[in-house]
Amino acid sequence: MEYIDHCKKCNKKGVPKTTGFNSGLYCATCNEWLVVTTCFPDIVADDTEYTLQIAFSALPDVKQLKLLSKKLNLNFLQLKQKADKNEHVIYQGKANELMDIIKIIRQLKGLGVEYTINPYFPYEHLSR
Ligand SMILES: [Zn+2]
Repeated sequence: MEYIDHCKKCNKKGVPKTTGFNSGLYCATCNEWLVVTTCFPDIVADDTEYTLQIAFSALPDVKQLKLLSKKLNLNFLQLKQKADKNEHVIYQGKANELMDIIKIIRQLKGLGVEYTINPYFPYEHLSR
């Protein structure tokens, strides 16, 4: 494959960009992808069982907790109790299941919700 790092139209250097499941080099001047790869199949093919640990240092609002409980397949009251007591919530799942949850938690970050994933989760940057 030809290695492209400059835009053919404006000759500016491409910048790395990731959006959704696409990752590659992007020309900000022309608003065009120079090189794009889709990362989605990696996630689907990944059979690793990841453990997501969610820690609450404060209680997010009810609406956000409800959204999170739905994604975690956890009863809302159970989740609220855990959050109230600052207990960790553990979720085990495949990479594509975790992606949805991480997206929500990212929105809650800074609102008293933090998370860790084991083993190393290579798709985290895709959830931005
Ligand atoms: Zn360009």
